[in-house]
Amino acid sequence: MTSITGHFINGQHATSSGNNTCDVFNPATAQVTHKVSLATAEDCDKAIASATAAANSWASTTPLNRSRVLFRFKALLEQHSDELAAMITAEHGKVFSDAKGELTRGLEVVEFACGIPHLIKGEHSTDVGRGVDSYSLMQPLGVVAGITPFNFPAMVPMWMFPVAIACGNTFILKPSERDPSVAMRIAELLTEAGLPKGVFTVLNGDKFAVDTLIQHPDVSAISFVGSTPIAQYIYDESAKYGKRAQALGGAKNHMVVMPDADIDGTVNALMGAAYGSAGERCMAISVAVAVGDETADALIEKLTPKVKALRIGNGIGHQQEMEMGPLVSKAHLDKVTGYVDQGVAEGADLIVDGRNIATTDGAEGFFIGGCLFDNVKPGMRIYQEEIFGPVLAVVRVETLEEAIALINSHEYANGTAIFTRDGGAARNYANRIHVGMVGINVPIPVPMAFHSFGGWKRSVFGPLNMHGNDGVRFYTRMKTVTQRWPENLQAEFTMPTMK
Ligand code: NAD
Repeated sequence: MTSITGHFINGQHATSSGNNTCDVFNPATAQVTHKVSLATAEDCDKAIASATAAANSWASTTPLNRSRVLFRFKALLEQHSDELAAMITAEHGKVFSDAKGELTRGLEVVEFACGIPHLIKGEHSTDVGRGVDSYSLMQPLGVVAGITPFNFPAMVPMWMFPVAIACGNTFILKPSERDPSVAMRIAELLTEAGLPKGVFTVLNGDKFAVDTLIQHPDVSAISFVGSTPIAQYIYDESAKYGKRAQALGGAKNHMVVMPDADIDGTVNALMGAAYGSAGERCMAISVAVAVGDETADALIEKLTPKVKALRIGNGIGHQQEMEMGPLVSKAHLDKVTGYVDQGVAEGADLIVDGRNIATTDGAEGFFIGGCLFDNVKPGMRIYQEEIFGPVLAVVRVETLEEAIALINSHEYANGTAIFTRDGGAARNYANRIHVGMVGINVPIPVPMAFHSFGGWKRSVFGPLNMHGNDGVRFYTRMKTVTQRWPENLQAEFTMPTMK
């Protein structure tokens, strides 16, 4: 009988009150491995009630003691990293070493959050007026929720909950239905680390659970990462219900390749950035903007054999690891394949066709090989839309100015990179490009945990990004106290000013 993953509520596993479930696949074999419950109204109520019940006591736990739980959690994450990475590979499909990398990037946010006593010290001014001091308190919001995508089932939740709970909130995670298991294991490890029950909840589900979290009066803030249409919906709905929200959306990330770039190094960087994790990364490079035909020709010549030679198969269980696993689902495979068909129909040159390839290891799951298009034009759908697969488009331009104008007119603006040996060109690019995260000879410029992660334009909704100082600001509200210890207060009928 297929097992059913339920929820994690009030410090323990909980079965759903209903029978609505969704299949969870191993995308490398196309087999259903288990099912996940989709929360009912009763499940949502239980989850929110337990998070609400835990909120006051957790908020009054000292920041130092909250941080100590996170220190223990960090040690457990390290201890169980192989097990957690294998769970990611089994449901997402990315190769094992990539899954370990995802965990490390999540763990870095835990390390950042361990510094919470320092991060929420607030501000203090002595003598803002004669005998008057002012200071700020950064206080938790209460119950907050995070809704996360399939492509980073461990890292994206860890962008959110370590900071949220370090700040004194209780956190409800609604993971992706595609790969829910690692979130459940994380909940167990947090409990083992000493996190009190109700502080971290996993509520599995679909749109119904998401809508319930947004609409419920006891949930104070919503963090979201996923596709742009849903990000915008989450942001709009949260505003409607008077909640603060941060909603990160989709991407189309361009790498500008200048004529003076080290072409071999650039090609290596592009291979990892375009085809790693089968392109299912919000920071994947999906467009290479070659400045000059010579640059474009050299890129195509060097990329072609490498894309054809990609080792593709099951992301775990081989002596020599694969470089690319499958896509997450049959529906997503059909979508990505459809985009390749579309690119051909639109007139782009398909240099490497990954459709219908045989995998290196004979695995028969939701696989597509690396695809490479040349002469992609800005009007084409394969240029404008997020494909989220191993499909790299080469666009040819004549100047850096043209590249900047092209990229600045795209609706998405998550990450970008420039490869060059010219410091002036790199500086010019970094200053003038309208994109949230910029790499200079760094293909995937994901900011470290102590900086903040987020794009611009339709890649993000809301002013505060993930982790770093923005994360702390998002999960706290500031209270400013103005105090004096007066001896003889006089009545004052005009606007108070400091004397
Ligand atoms: P998705 O938008 O389909 O789903 C994300 C979450 O929203 C899931 O938990 C899902 O259950 C929920 N959801 C889906 N439809 C919903 C609806 N109609 N109403 C309410 N909730 C709904 O995204 P995905 O396919 O899981 O993830 C891939 C997308 O995420 C890509 O677009 C990728 O660029 C984006 N992404 C962005 C970032 C970033 O930092 N900007 C990071 C990772 C992924």
